[in-house]
Amino acid sequence: MQVLKFGGSSVKDAVNIKQTVSVIRERAQRGTTWVVVSALGGVTDDLLRASELASAGDEQYRQSLQQIETRHLETVRQLIPLTEQSALLSEVKSRCNELLDICQGIFLLGELSLRTRDRIVSYGEWLSSRILTRFLQTEGFDAAWADSRELILTNDRFGHAQVLFEETNQRIQAYRSGNRSPLAVFPGFIASTLEGVTTTLGRGGSDYTAAILAAAVHADVLEIWTDVSGMMTADPRLVHGVQQIPEISYEEAMELSHFGAKVIYPPTIQPVQAKGIPTWVKNTFAPHDPGTLIHAGKGSSPQTIRGLSSMNQIALLSLEGGGMVGIPGFSGRLFTSLAQASINVILITQSSSEYSICVAVDSNLASKAKEVLDRQFSPEIQAGMLQPVQVELGLSILAIVGDQMKNHTGISGRMFSALGRNGVNIRAIAQGSSERNISTVIAASDVAKALNVLHESFFADDLREINLFIAGVGNVGARLLAQLEQQATFLEKQLRLRVRVVGLCSSKKALIQTNGIDLAQWRTYWESQAESMSIQAFSERMIDLNLRNTVFADVTASADVANTYAGLLAKSIAVVACNKIAASGPYAVYANLQHLAKEFRVPFLFETNVGAGLPIISTLNDLIRSGDQVHEIQAVLSGTLNFVFNHYDTSKPFAEVVRQAQAEGYTEPDPRLDLSGTDVMRKINILVREAGIPLEMDAIANPGFMPARCMEGDVDSFYRTMLEEEAHFAALYREAASRGAKLKFVAQFKDGKASVGLQHIDPSHDFYHLYGKDNIVLFYTTRYPQQPLVVKGAGAGAEVTASGVFADILRTLTA
Ligand code: ADP
Ligand code: ASP
Ligand code: MG
Repeated sequence: MQVLKFGGSSVKDAVNIKQTVSVIRERAQRGTTWVVVSALGGVTDDLLRASELASAGDEQYRQSLQQIETRHLETVRQLIPLTEQSALLSEVKSRCNELLDICQGIFLLGELSLRTRDRIVSYGEWLSSRILTRFLQTEGFDAAWADSRELILTNDRFGHAQVLFEETNQRIQAYRSGNRSPLAVFPGFIASTLEGVTTTLGRGGSDYTAAILAAAVHADVLEIWTDVSGMMTADPRLVHGVQQIPEISYEEAMELSHFGAKVIYPPTIQPVQAKGIPTWVKNTFAPHDPGTLIHAGKGSSPQTIRGLSSMNQIALLSLEGGGMVGIPGFSGRLFTSLAQASINVILITQSSSEYSICVAVDSNLASKAKEVLDRQFSPEIQAGMLQPVQVELGLSILAIVGDQMKNHTGISGRMFSALGRNGVNIRAIAQGSSERNISTVIAASDVAKALNVLHESFFADDLREINLFIAGVGNVGARLLAQLEQQATFLEKQLRLRVRVVGLCSSKKALIQTNGIDLAQWRTYWESQAESMSIQAFSERMIDLNLRNTVFADVTASADVANTYAGLLAKSIAVVACNKIAASGPYAVYANLQHLAKEFRVPFLFETNVGAGLPIISTLNDLIRSGDQVHEIQAVLSGTLNFVFNHYDTSKPFAEVVRQAQAEGYTEPDPRLDLSGTDVMRKINILVREAGIPLEMDAIANPGFMPARCMEGDVDSFYRTMLEEEAHFAALYREAASRGAKLKFVAQFKDGKASVGLQHIDPSHDFYHLYGKDNIVLFYTTRYPQQPLVVKGAGAGAEVTASGVFADILRTLTA
């Protein structure tokens, strides 16, 4: 004996019903088969909508009912041979007329009771089961139809009736002995009171009908046929890359469904568990997929966490006050009063100080719950021992479930740190005493992100995703996008990592594609689809999208862009900058950003601020973290100036060499920042700050080597005046050359003072053999007192800068 249940999608239309019948045909060969069926997909909702329209006095209800009727008649016409249709068609019509009469009554009275509502929705399952039975018969099955309302008896809690198991089991067993059909079809979801008034078992209740039938007759197996290939590690509509769960214990399945895994209606598990009936979740549309076995076994899977689920529309009610401490019976009163008002408590937490207690309930019941509790505790509230109940709306519960959790430590730590890193604020936490689940209450707007974050964190071979937003589509931006595209396959295969570029912006325009911009064609999209948008609006969109592992990469040199970092870090969005403005601006700004990064546990990385792709800042960070102290820094930090002084030998004018450096992409967008030494000041400033010493730009000495008039006016006049001042530059060169020295623009930090300036470097110096656009840094520290720690290499250029930014983006996941 087997019980098969087919959900709404399996009987959505004639095509799906035929698919369902092909599953039944295959299964029926195994022996007696009972089939439970839901209403045609969406019909229960349609019936509820029609009844609500009627009760609101809206005539549209007639149209809604008409659509429901047409849909069923159409299905009959497509399934049943023409010559055999008429009886069923008139049956459907007469039932739909009854429905119309009931709704007319509601329309006239302007009143809709829960009892009438149950009556109305019962037609959905009634119609689908009649149609399926008749179709099976025309397909040659010896199929009987049974009215579940005569078999499943309940109390009169309409909408969510409680089953009277003794009577129900007797009736089902009696039906079984009196009916020997090899195949019987039952409408799911519907039942009746002892007096014969129609009730329903709660939304999604057809699963429960099937479990009740299976348990009453000790079926060998229960199969829940739906539109997914089993229970998944999370709701596939909300989480990317879910995995199918091959087997799961009854308890785990119950927890997952209790906290929102809609694939099974929670009460379903109890009857089958009590009888130890193995239960499968299978896909009607992929019947050969293995599906999920729910059973008593502990399972062989080493997976600690079996799955995640979430529940929306949650309200949190908090009762607080000293009046609670140490008084027994307090929580008893709370739960009893809620139970008496038929308010189901979904989650409870009480602080160990006993100073407050929080309960989560369905948000539709929140105001009623507050009223009940305020009344119950009014003596204490009036005496000032307790505060009135506080209600918080717009919340969701997110649960992680697994039998094995109790044998592993650190699960909750992992959960909370993953959520914390993504800026998901946890309002309340509960761990069941079975240690089979940990549930948290979070803002509803964070659910999709939180589920994805946790899925990534607990299902190891899962692909991790970075959602990247980039400001700047110039030289470095374009190289970065090219590198991201080129490395995509490697990252996915080797690191199980996908970097999705969701947004690009310039100072005027932005392109946002939530599914990720196709990097092979980003320029085409950028040119055709980017909309005009300010950087502020872009950063607000980034925050609103609330995607997990969001990283903002700033490859501009703009102060406006740098001004957005604080707001982003405070929303747990990682910031990667090659823009130096923030880290070298006022010390208070730098310190605040570091503080926000720490507080919101989110990376703020700017390795490319000094030496482009060279690991200068990370080396310095490692020294400091491991307890070293920096005493002195000597460095050549300007790729531009190094290039210029390495190429300038008076054979070509100085201005021309600078122009060449700019053409090759080594300068800042405004080359005067390099030539004035400002860019190098920023770099030494950042290094000193990263060494733990507060420093301001105006405390850095910079005598400058440029004639003052070159720095006045715009970039054009800069080049012009440089040419006019060629004699000045030639003199600088000759003076150095006459001493056998080279000119280098050196930054240093020594005896607590920072300075930058042009120096004569003789051949014995570490800096003498520094070619092209190379940078070099010497760190003299407690551990490296005489022989400094040296970092040297290519320190400028779009390609190396982009690769440094790329490395920082990847580092956000581990920093
Ligand atoms: P039926 O109409 O067959 O009863 P439901 O819509 O009630 O189907 O349940 C199946 C749906 O449950 C799936 O389509 C899926 O979107 C959703 N779902 C939510 N959580 C899970 C999960 N953990 N595993 C599988 N499906 C889930
Ligand atoms: N048709 C009912 C509902 O939509 C019962 C079910 O499908 O299980 O809730
Ligand atoms: Mg369902």
